[in-house]
Amino acid sequence: MVLYNTLDRKKEIFKPIKNRVGLYSCGPTVYNYAHIGNLRAYVFADILKKTLKYNGYKVKHVMNITDVGHLTSDADFGEDKMIKALRREGKKFNKKSIKKISKFYTRAFKQDIKKLNIQFPNLWTKATAYIKEMIKMIRLIEKNGYAYETSDGLYFNTAKLPDYGKLAQLNIKGLQPGARVEINPEKKNLTDFALWFKAVGKGKSHLMQWASPWGKGWPGWHIECSAMSSKCLGQPFDIHTGGIDHIPVHHTNEIAQAEAARKKPLAHYWLHNEFLILDKEKMAKSGEGFITLSTLANKGFNPLAYRYFCLTAHYRSPLNFNWENLLASQNALNNLYQNVAGYPRPTKINKETKQKFTSAINDDLDTPQALSVVWETIKSDLSNGEKMATLIDFDKILGLDLIKTKKDLSKIPLKIKEIVKKRELFRKEKNWAAADQLRQEINNLGFQIEDTAQGTFIKKNN
Ligand code: AMP
Ligand code: ZN
Repeated sequence: MVLYNTLDRKKEIFKPIKNRVGLYSCGPTVYNYAHIGNLRAYVFADILKKTLKYNGYKVKHVMNITDVGHLTSDADFGEDKMIKALRREGKKFNKKSIKKISKFYTRAFKQDIKKLNIQFPNLWTKATAYIKEMIKMIRLIEKNGYAYETSDGLYFNTAKLPDYGKLAQLNIKGLQPGARVEINPEKKNLTDFALWFKAVGKGKSHLMQWASPWGKGWPGWHIECSAMSSKCLGQPFDIHTGGIDHIPVHHTNEIAQAEAARKKPLAHYWLHNEFLILDKEKMAKSGEGFITLSTLANKGFNPLAYRYFCLTAHYRSPLNFNWENLLASQNALNNLYQNVAGYPRPTKINKETKQKFTSAINDDLDTPQALSVVWETIKSDLSNGEKMATLIDFDKILGLDLIKTKKDLSKIPLKIKEIVKKRELFRKEKNWAAADQLRQEINNLGFQIEDTAQGTFIKKNN
């Protein structure tokens, strides 16, 4: 397997530390629904995990749930996200409301990823359950001389690490205040960041506070991931994932903390997905264009059409979202389902086709190429039983529910299929009135039909 490692900016042959691959993905901050951009990041991590398994590796996947209030900017400024959520939802400003909100959005997140056939991680790490680990790591950083105290917290001294910023290839000297960081007169360097915030001054009223060697307060955001990933997977572990926005600050700081604490790398491979772009602008959790999986479902889209849509682009390419593109993916997926529904029981996997698929997916997860192998298979002169077996095998990674849909479609009664056939004849004769009447009849019998460029698709009424 070859993966593109952001650390070296090149594709590298994947060599795990042990046969069990340690994989960590930065999870959501649970103060709102995940938008479809966030979900692209998790579809990517899922494809990575399933590809590792397809190659015979065991995988231990850890994902965090950030339920501590953090600031809206990665770089220690902005509003506390949890407070923002309380205000937005007109909730009381207390710890109980925060717990309720994080519980609600954690559940919503899990439901979304389930609908996208994203396998749950082996371990969910809730930040509030790992405060002790974070404090332990901060103490190591302090002991090794990489931290200094200010009136409002404990900060990481980035000047002490000669290669600070290597992941992002940051030009530290060229950084200007405001470009990435806000001026804090007590900070020694522009890139220094908080390891621990003290509950003093403005922070006194912060709703989530824990006792620490630096007084009551709460941890910085970056320490969460360094502490939880190394605690659950060891240090170093194999692969760390996230969106490209995390390269310059969050992941850069995760690396700095882990290396300062233990003089060892945090992870060997850093993989980053490009953004889903809506109207050429980065989708944010606030402001315009906040599209969730429910927005898609309300417009009649199958969540798996969104998964398919994500697979049409390489994870390192930006992906432009619009409704026409999504519809094209839904049509393609329906077409795939129709083909599979017509196939008999699976016989044997075709080796040559599997080889093509494997070399595509093992080449830094080239999903567009893998999908083109799917369509080649369908159009090939292999027997239908072989096609079925081969596609089911590919679906271990693609996650498009081919077996389940085939079963569902095979449950469509013959009577319905016959009415659909009759309706097709009327449509060919352009007898729209008769065709519409039959559509109604089908509906009354509990089924829906959808006319696509590839033919008519039948499904059960919801
Ligand atoms: P957040 O909850 O903001 O930390 O984001 C969760 C994950 O989604 C992170 O890995 C982000 O890098 C990623 N992400 C955020 N916005 C987008 C986007 N528009 N497209 C793809 N990934 C994104
Ligand atoms: Zn993280």
